[in-house]
Amino acid sequence: MDDISVIKSKLSVPSNILIITHRNPDGDAIGSSLGLKLFLDEFGHNCKVLMPSEFPVVFNYLPALSSITIFDNNQEEARQMLTHADIIFCLDFNGLDRIDPLGLEISESHAYKAMIDHHLDPEPFADWYLSDVHASSTSELVYRFIEALGHAPHMVNTDIGSCLFTGILTDTGSFKYGTNPEVYRIASELKKIGVDDYDINDKIFNSWTLRQMKILGHALRNRMEILPELNTGIIKLSKGDYLKYRISRGDTEGLVNYIMMIKGMRVAAFVREMPHGEIRLSFRSKGEISVQELASQHFNGGGHKNASGGSSKLSLDETIQKLKDVIPQYVRLTDISAG
Ligand code: 5GP
Ligand code: MN
Repeated sequence: MDDISVIKSKLSVPSNILIITHRNPDGDAIGSSLGLKLFLDEFGHNCKVLMPSEFPVVFNYLPALSSITIFDNNQEEARQMLTHADIIFCLDFNGLDRIDPLGLEISESHAYKAMIDHHLDPEPFADWYLSDVHASSTSELVYRFIEALGHAPHMVNTDIGSCLFTGILTDTGSFKYGTNPEVYRIASELKKIGVDDYDINDKIFNSWTLRQMKILGHALRNRMEILPELNTGIIKLSKGDYLKYRISRGDTEGLVNYIMMIKGMRVAAFVREMPHGEIRLSFRSKGEISVQELASQHFNGGGHKNASGGSSKLSLDETIQKLKDVIPQYVRLTDISAG
C-alpha cells in the first residue's frame, strides 16, 4: 500500500469521486465498488459508480444500486462523470484493457487516480496503489483501506459490510480458495457489526432458475471433455448452444468450477463462443500451475495464478485445439518444478 497519508489528504475535502470497475462485473467488482461508495458518502463526497457493462441480477439485493451508471447503456452520462471527477478509484482491475473504451478516457483524465486491486502485474496508470495479489478480493482490500484511514470498524455500517462480504464470499467461492488469515479476521469483524452472512449466501447461491440448472446439466452431460493424462477438463459452448438454450452471461457463472470438483483435476477451461462471435475463455488451476501465464501468454488475458481469463480470435474448434497444444507445457513444467 502506498503512503496512506497522501490519499487521506486528498479525501480531506469533499470531492467528486468516481469509482470504476471492470467489464462484466462480478460480486467482488460490485461489492467493493458499492462498499467504498457508501463509506465515502459518509464524508460528504459526491460519489458515483461506473461500470462498463451490466451486472448479474443476482446482486440486486445490494444497497445503493441507483448510484451505478452502466457505460454501455448511458455513454453520455458516463463521459460527464469522467469529466467532472476529481478522484477516480479503479477497483478490481489493473489494466486499462479491462474497461474497454473507458480505458482511453481514464488514461487521458487529469483526475487523481487510485487503484485498489488484487490481480497480478498492475499497469502503471494510477497515482496511488493498494495492490496486493495475496488478498482474497478487492473487497478485503477496501476494508483494509478503511482501516488504514482509521475508520474501521466504527464507520463500517451493515450496508457497507454487506457489500464487502458479498465480494469476499464470491471471490473466495465461500472461503474455498484464495483465503488468508486477514480475510477470516475481516469476515469476523463484518459478522460482529451485524452482516447477515447466511442471508447473503442464500441470496447468491440459492437463486438459480430451472433453466440455469438445465444449462448446467447440458454443459456437463454433453459439452465436457476430460483429458485424463493432463488432469485437465474442458467445457465448450458454441454459439448454437447460446441461441438454443437462450444462455446469457450470468447463466454460465461458476460453470468452470464444476470441472475442478472431479477428483484429480488440476486445470479447468471453459471456452465459449458468444452470440456475437467473440471467443472467451475462463481458466482454473490448482497449486503451482499458473493459468495466469497460460491466459496472458496465449489468450490475451490474465488474472490470478489459479483463476484467469482471456479471449481468442480463432474459431471455437481452433481455440480448443490451440489450448490442447499449449496446456501440456504448463502442466509438465509444473510437474518438474514440483520435483
Ligand atoms: P472468470 O473466469 O471468472 O471470468 O475470470 C477469472 C479471473 O480472470 C478474474 O479474476 C478476472 O479478473 C480474470 N480475467 C478474466 N478475463 C480476463 C481478461 O480478458 N483479461 C485479464 N487480464 N484478466 C481476465
Ligand atoms: Mn476480485
